[in-house]
Amino acid sequence: MREALVGKELSDLEKVVDGLGSKPFRARQLYHSLYRERLGSIEESTTLPRSLQESLARDHDWGLPATAQAVHAADGTVRYLLGLADSKTIEAVFIPEQRRDTLCISSQVGCPVDCKFCLTALLGLERHLTAGEIIGQVLALCRAHALEPRTRPLNIVMMGQGEPLLNLDNAMKAVRLMADDKGVGIPLRRITVSTSGIIPRIEELGRHEIRPKLAISLNASTEEQRLRLMPITKKYRLADLIDVCRGYPVRPWERLMFEYVLLKGVNDSDDDARRVVSLLGQLKAKVNLIALNPGPGIDFETPSPERVDSFHQIVERSLPCFVRRPRGLDIYAACGQLKRSAA
Ligand code: SAH
Ligand code: SF4
Repeated sequence: MREALVGKELSDLEKVVDGLGSKPFRARQLYHSLYRERLGSIEESTTLPRSLQESLARDHDWGLPATAQAVHAADGTVRYLLGLADSKTIEAVFIPEQRRDTLCISSQVGCPVDCKFCLTALLGLERHLTAGEIIGQVLALCRAHALEPRTRPLNIVMMGQGEPLLNLDNAMKAVRLMADDKGVGIPLRRITVSTSGIIPRIEELGRHEIRPKLAISLNASTEEQRLRLMPITKKYRLADLIDVCRGYPVRPWERLMFEYVLLKGVNDSDDDARRVVSLLGQLKAKVNLIALNPGPGIDFETPSPERVDSFHQIVERSLPCFVRRPRGLDIYAACGQLKRSAA
């Protein structure tokens, strides 16, 4: 199997270049071509000598994912189906906004966590993504939309397919590559990783000095309710999840984000809203409400806008709270809808 260059840190590239008998500064040039210039292939490099390009190409691929399909929504959102070296596919979404853009990227092919409202869950887990496949989505979409994170804000959310904290080492390597100022240069405060609540991995993430912001999919206001919606609660209890959040080293400039998918008649009552407030009251938290994005095989309904408003108003009295507007709903690009559907 040929090795991908995308996903390698500078120290990895130094080893590659050294193995080919070239000087260390060639590794820095290669790093620059990969992450700063975001070139599409080895041959596009104007700084690397032809001889090094040829010797690199013998055992290595550049390693960007291939665009298998790009589906455009009426609101400007574009959902990409990206092909990996082993022919598996993942999804990534480009979400343009007025003053910034957001890329929603995947961390696994499918997902092993069995949340009852999520289309990705129906896939099960096929495999983890490598660090290169995670950062590769960012590079590919930056190329496709001529994005320059240094001149226009770009947010990255690891909220596509997969549970990033079950693939933490690769996710963190990809985050370091995104954040490195010598490379892509996306500030850490613009990178968010979302988890269904893998408690030991949350603690581990907190010990990393270079770490993204953390979002936690709460989605329920009681232990029993969460157990029904997110069976992983059996292993990682809601009470313990809140405890680990209390001990989490939140930086001065950040708040823990709690996502809450509102399901009609299930977890969307005023009492639920009040329980959410008492669960999170002691935390430096903010709440992101998402009215269910429906899909085939999902046995829940979307609450009315009035219900969402009422829930929002109760939480908002105590905590910063936003309702996430669904983007790309018409092309199955919205939260929880990523499952490699063809249309
Ligand atoms: N696995 C991670 C990240 C991907 S899911 C996690 O669960 O946090 C990203 C977000 O989409 C989660 O907050 C999840 O609760 C939400 N989501 C899943 N299915 C949804 C659906 N059908 N409608 C709206 N949001 C959904
Ligand atoms: Fe996996 Fe997140 Fe979907 Fe749950 S909500 S199945 S953790 S992708």
